[in-house]
Amino acid sequence: MRKVLFTLILSVVTLFAFAQDSLAEQKQAKYVFYFIGDGMGQNQVLTTEMYLAELEGKINRKPLCFTGFPVTGQCVTFSTTNGITDSSAAGTALASGEKTKSGTLGVRPDGTPVHTIAERLHEAGWGVGITTSVSIDHATPGAFYAHVNSRSEYYKIGTQLAASGFDFFGGATFYHPHLLIDKKKRLFDTSTPSLYKICRDSAYTFAHGFAEYENLKDEAKKMILIQSHEGLEDDYEGKGMIPYRIDRGFNDLSLTQITEAAIDFLSSRNEKFFLMVEGGAIDWACHSNDAATVIKDVIDMDEAVRIAYEFYLQHQDETLIVVTADHETGGLGMGNSDYTLNLQLLQNQKASVFEVTNTLKLLHSEFGKHLKWEMVKDILKESFGLYDKVKVSPEEDKYLQSQYKQMIKGKQKNVKTLYKEIDGLADYAMRILCRQSKLGWTTGAHSAAAVGVWAIGVGAEQFTGWQDNTQIAPKIMNATGVK
Ligand SMILES: [Zn+2]
Repeated sequence: MRKVLFTLILSVVTLFAFAQDSLAEQKQAKYVFYFIGDGMGQNQVLTTEMYLAELEGKINRKPLCFTGFPVTGQCVTFSTTNGITDSSAAGTALASGEKTKSGTLGVRPDGTPVHTIAERLHEAGWGVGITTSVSIDHATPGAFYAHVNSRSEYYKIGTQLAASGFDFFGGATFYHPHLLIDKKKRLFDTSTPSLYKICRDSAYTFAHGFAEYENLKDEAKKMILIQSHEGLEDDYEGKGMIPYRIDRGFNDLSLTQITEAAIDFLSSRNEKFFLMVEGGAIDWACHSNDAATVIKDVIDMDEAVRIAYEFYLQHQDETLIVVTADHETGGLGMGNSDYTLNLQLLQNQKASVFEVTNTLKLLHSEFGKHLKWEMVKDILKESFGLYDKVKVSPEEDKYLQSQYKQMIKGKQKNVKTLYKEIDGLADYAMRILCRQSKLGWTTGAHSAAAVGVWAIGVGAEQFTGWQDNTQIAPKIMNATGVK
């Protein structure tokens, strides 16, 4: 009897193990979405959620789409050389599972190239899309297809994009369509073919904006979707980014459109696909400590995640979505003086500090020394709510006016941030609003703060707990079953 019982138990256990095995075999991701919020620390996410709740008169979180995912984890981001990473070393780790030196892209500390998950999946016959809200040759997107000793070798990165053979790219433009030969003088070697030509010669079709994408998609073998502004191809500086959500015009390309187009393009041509989507402009806004702009761009990335989530709902047994960040930027602190937050005040900001800088520059070039303080004051009112919804102390007013006087003399102070020089007056005005919203920033650079990881779908359970940024890529590969 005992023997019979034992045999019975054994066969049930075997059967169960077999069932588990075949279940595991069945459940492999065919569609992988990898979202990377550049500079999107935990506080950037929570500030956005608490801001949205405050708009509804509540002290609470109004959850974003991705923070509702069933699996959450934490991730540390340091590089081999720095406690605080840069985007290229962080991107390399997220793309390949290998840590490297800050400043290098897609290569190990000894200079040998890493093998990224995008390359592995491409070699295994998957469709691959690499997209961002900044330029497609920037560090995070570049980490998936480029191998260079310095992330600022933009031209070389662009030629490697063309050679990658990946199916879809989406973003603002190329940062440097020609080879930069003198950084100080901003001299480009126009005798070399532009990256646009090199990509066209490599069977890529360019679409400027979503409408053009719709027109060209059927004939295109491979697609590069870029910002809708015409003339960018001749503009060496480019803008480097699709406009921030807070500044976006009706005709501007958006990250949600890029995500929609990428899913459409990849799913119509491939049985399996991998899509990386970077909320790259979050980082740029954090570098200038522009809180309202950060919040809007986090919301923007969340809307892109929502599109992937809707796809997941249609293909739940075959889809994996992972959302994380490459590092935190700005050292954003929630609280700067007492026990209150006043995040809703940030709704009075109607343009990024970049855009206000442009507006002031334009006004100054038009009116010169005849530019009146009242006109400048109106800009501060419209852009940041100052003197109206946001109180300005007599000292702050005095400082703003002194900056205005310097400006009409052509002697205004500019504030250098990583991606743009900001007008000192606009910067000071933005910081008045930020201070009153009770937020604080510790730096104009990155920080070492851990970032969040959120996952849903096939293989999502692997992403729980504390992890190193090198562990995410192998877990994604694990979910695909591709060796
Ligand atoms: Zn970054």
